[in-house]
Amino acid sequence: MICMRNTHWTDDSFLAALYGAAGEDEHVVACVDCRRRLQSLRQRRALLRATELEVSEEFLAAQRRSIKERLVPRARRRALRFVPVMAAILLLIAVMVTVRHGPEPPKPAAVVSDEKVFEEVFTLVSDPEPQAVAPIRYLFEVQQ
Ligand SMILES: [Zn+2]
Repeated sequence: MICMRNTHWTDDSFLAALYGAAGEDEHVVACVDCRRRLQSLRQRRALLRATELEVSEEFLAAQRRSIKERLVPRARRRALRFVPVMAAILLLIAVMVTVRHGPEPPKPAAVVSDEKVFEEVFTLVSDPEPQAVAPIRYLFEVQQ
C-alpha cells in the first residue's frame, strides 16, 4: 500500500467524488485502498442506476399494497371485512321493522254519545239568537 499523506479518504470524501462534488486528488491516485474503494463504489452505483430503470410499475404497486397491508393491523382488516355485511343486515332489519309496523292507522273519532249531540242541537234550536248578538241588541233598545 502506497499512501502519500497517510490519511485515507473519509466517507464524505468518497460521496463527494461519487456524486461529482469533488474531484480526485493525489491521495486517491496514489493510495491503492482508496482507489479500489472508489472504483468499487462507482461500479455499485452504476449497477444500482442500471437496475433502477428496470423497476416495473407492477412491482411498485405490489410494494405499496404490501406497505398498506402492514400499516393496517390484521385484526382490524378482519373487522373491516364484515362492515358491508353488518350494514346490509342492519338495513334489512330496518326495512323489516318499517314494513311490519307500517304507518299508524287513523285514530277513530272521539265517541260522542247520542244524548250529548241531541242536547247541543236542542240548545241551538231553542235559542234563536247567538249569545254574541245580545250586546248589539242592547244598543238598539230604547232606553226608558
Ligand atoms: Zn487512502
